Amino acid sequence: MTFDAFKTFDAQELEIQATTCLKPLVPETELVFGKHFTDHMITVEWSAESGWNKPHIKPYGKLELEPSSVVFHYGFECFEGMKAYKDTEGHIRLFRPEMNMDRLNKSSARLGMPTFDPEELVKVITEFLRIEDRWIPSKRGYSLYLRPTIIGTQTALGVRAPDTALLFVIASPVGPYFSTGFTAIRLLATTDYVRSWPHGTGDCKVGGNYAPCVKPQSIAAEKGYQQNLWLFGEDDEVTEAGTMNFFMLWENFDTGRKELITPALNGLILPGVTRDSILSLVKSWEAEIGIFVREGKITMADILKAVEEKRMIEMFGAGTACIVSPIKCINYKGKDIEIPLGKTKNDSEAGPLTKRINDTILDIQYGVVKHPFSPSP
Ligand code: PMP
Repeated sequence: MTFDAFKTFDAQELEIQATTCLKPLVPETELVFGKHFTDHMITVEWSAESGWNKPHIKPYGKLELEPSSVVFHYGFECFEGMKAYKDTEGHIRLFRPEMNMDRLNKSSARLGMPTFDPEELVKVITEFLRIEDRWIPSKRGYSLYLRPTIIGTQTALGVRAPDTALLFVIASPVGPYFSTGFTAIRLLATTDYVRSWPHGTGDCKVGGNYAPCVKPQSIAAEKGYQQNLWLFGEDDEVTEAGTMNFFMLWENFDTGRKELITPALNGLILPGVTRDSILSLVKSWEAEIGIFVREGKITMADILKAVEEKRMIEMFGAGTACIVSPIKCINYKGKDIEIPLGKTKNDSEAGPLTKRINDTILDIQYGVVKHPFSPSP
């Protein structure tokens, strides 16, 4: 992603206004995803006339926006989801933050909104995390979820690229997705609604992709399925599992080799940070475990055939919130297809590869193993 180097903000100009009233911390047992927010937030204003303003860290609080602001009318909004972790030595770590920054720039540019120098926002976030240190849980599996967001703030009802925008970052402490071992999920393969389409915005993290998926998700939930399996096209090509990238471990029909496959980035799929990390890690294990990695098309017919021929080994969704989430069932055209879990002995509903991926990423995030995805602070 390119950005105009002359049109960015500078972390060195950061202005900090500390709160005078610290909030009480939330006990770890009471953490609910996205419910409680820290004491401060980051804001950076942009205008077409003068570019980016100085970045600010200020007390978390309300934004003042006129009802005519374009964010409320045309969906000028894009965001990121990333986490800060505290390692065993008490140091704060980020996991591949440059990937989130690049994706935010790509989403913002897609909506005709401004871009920035990714390194500058990482520097501001690093300072923000130093200030919010007490909010970053230190237990493995716990973290501080960060929500960088860009909105169009122009007060005009014309549909055009906004000439003012606001970048903000808020933060919320979160607990582990699976606190008592993995629980595999059931998916409803959705044929009545489509999440993304060629040349659309499915490969960007824009708010407009998410609200329309809530109704299909409620329909799935009413039927007893946790998430939608999003399909596209005449041949029911698999794209994503809810708000996660889709992976399956199977024995390839043609080559007979064990393969971890995920849909290719063909514009229908959000390029997940977790997805990319899994591809890179499993590729590095190829020689050791004899599992090959491939990005390619997967159709429902492939899944049906693989299950029938007992070639399906494990299936999971992947994303920042859960790392991996095993999948045990897909309902397709009214019929439940049971997916083997490749169960490990410890009774958790995750197969050996799913579990190894999860443990390895956690080890990297919490600095237990040294890895370029999470450089030492
Ligand atoms: N797909 C969608 C639609 C998502 O919203 C997310 C969450 N950002 C993902 C995939 C996973 O992406 P990541 O690994 O970067 O969290």
